[in-house]
Amino acid sequence: MPRAPGETVAVQSAVRTIVVVGGGTAGWITASLVAAQHRDSAEPPEVVLVESPDIPIIGVGEGTWPSMRMTLQKIGLPEADLLRQCEASFKQGTRFTGWSRPGEASQYVHPFSLPAEYATLNLAEHWLATGGAVPFADFATPQAPVIAGGLAPKQLATPEYAFNVNYGYHFDAGKFARLLHRHAVTRLGIRYVPGNLQQVEHRENGDIAALVLDTGERLAADLFVDCTGQRALLIGRYPEAGLVSVKHILFNDTAIAAQVPYADPGQPLPSVTCATAAPSGWIWDIGLQTRRGVGHVYSSAHASEAEALATVRDYVARVSPRTDLEQLTFRRIPFEPGHRRQFWVGNCVAVGLSGGFIEPLEASALALIEQSASLISHQLPVNRETMTVVARRFNEKMAYHWERVVEFLKLHYVLSERDDSEYWRACRDPATCPTSLRDKLLLWQQQAPWHDDAPRVDELFPSASYQYVLYGMGFRPALMSARGAALHRDRERVGRVVQANAEKARQMCSLLPTNRALLDSLTQMRGVA
Ligand SMILES: Cc1cc2nc3c(=O)[nH]c(=O)nc-3n(C[C@H](O)[C@H](O)[C@H](O)COP(=O)(O)OP(=O)(O)OC[C@H]3O[C@@H](n4cnc5c(N)ncnc54)[C@H](O)[C@@H]3O)c2cc1C
Repeated sequence: MPRAPGETVAVQSAVRTIVVVGGGTAGWITASLVAAQHRDSAEPPEVVLVESPDIPIIGVGEGTWPSMRMTLQKIGLPEADLLRQCEASFKQGTRFTGWSRPGEASQYVHPFSLPAEYATLNLAEHWLATGGAVPFADFATPQAPVIAGGLAPKQLATPEYAFNVNYGYHFDAGKFARLLHRHAVTRLGIRYVPGNLQQVEHRENGDIAALVLDTGERLAADLFVDCTGQRALLIGRYPEAGLVSVKHILFNDTAIAAQVPYADPGQPLPSVTCATAAPSGWIWDIGLQTRRGVGHVYSSAHASEAEALATVRDYVARVSPRTDLEQLTFRRIPFEPGHRRQFWVGNCVAVGLSGGFIEPLEASALALIEQSASLISHQLPVNRETMTVVARRFNEKMAYHWERVVEFLKLHYVLSERDDSEYWRACRDPATCPTSLRDKLLLWQQQAPWHDDAPRVDELFPSASYQYVLYGMGFRPALMSARGAALHRDRERVGRVVQANAEKARQMCSLLPTNRALLDSLTQMRGVA
């Protein structure tokens, strides 16, 4: 009901207890961020996390964005713990191979650093004017040569979480959830309750009143966070939260994952996720300290399980010829690509796989979890009345983010020139491209993407990401000649920026240790907090 200015809002049905169901990455990150954000308040909410002792976490999800550094800092987790306890390595972006055309020669990187002076200068337009002889990422940021050299994003003396070039992580997802668990319980005061959810009690208005576990324990709360993964045990009960499938846009619906030990323990560690296109999907390859995480994401409509398995086995045999394939366990993970129509209904909000999942290209799932959890913690409703407003805004924001994720991932496919399989022909079909992306692709024929293409302050993918993929995939605009005069004006500045980039790249390539060397030093150091 609208209120007169200055009218007091009654504190009715105050939000005092929050129950998070699920102890995967989504559950622990959400519980930790809420507890960390409110622990110094006069009346901190009680945060309880319930987890089934019988149902394992999904255990994949090994690549993060730079935002994870901020999240870990907010919850007070020392970076040394992550590096030592989770097999973590530094990730500076993604290297795509074979996406434009089949074969190793078709390759580009999407680095995490923005092009130089991005706030006020659109380097992409100038790069296009030069004819694009060097790869765009090499022209735009010193990070590309750092990645190419397998170098770390920082030096040994660089403080925790600080960097020379922007980075996120690769880590072992199971070990990461266990580290978060220990930290949340011992440092953030989160109450951990093992037990299987057996029954959900509702109030008359449809809100959840309490959860009953198989241990007999009854947990009443004011807000319930569904982090039960693909089971979606709480949010899945609400018809208004039905799944919006995106399978008609992004066809991949199955993954086959394996952990591949290194034949040589000192093997160089790439500082990027390697994403290699395959006839009916693509393969991820992530370098952790003692093993690689490898997986094939594919469309079950275009490849049988046996064909997909053969593809990933061939890949492992090629990149790691000394690996005994018979010793590896290949795990199949089916998923329905899509997201909830509403993510927050009544006093129940979904975070993580319960809210949706689309193939792990560009690793946006953990970033979405961080965004959701940070929104919940910052706007934690004081009472049930404000919860309705927070929920509406949460739903609007998440719907926007998911739309952008779908659009950005589709960009990787629709620009491909591959014609070697039914899968790629279907992926490229303009009829499967969202209208918003088709409009942008038309506009980008006359101008390079920039701030207007990703206008919100909390965009998941900045417009720079669109540039890296667009030009990495070989897109060249047909209508840009009209911009000649404006380009001419900035010519001297651009020359200085490009020269400075090259100088920074030279310095960093001589100063930075390799990814492997830095990790060895950091994980072997004693006495680091
Ligand atoms: C193949 C694949 C690759 C991926 N790669 C990436 C990546 O590189 N980067 C990225 O950001 N993301 C990635 N993801 C996504 C990422 O794995 C997930 O977003 C992340 O792990 C969060 O999972 P979750 O916590 O939502 O669910 P889960 O890890 O499945 O956790 C669910 C929890 O719910 C609990 N639970 C279930 N039922 C009950 C019950 N009845 N009672 C009590 N508790 C219950 C379970 O015990 C468990 O603790 C990938 C996903 C897949 C499928």
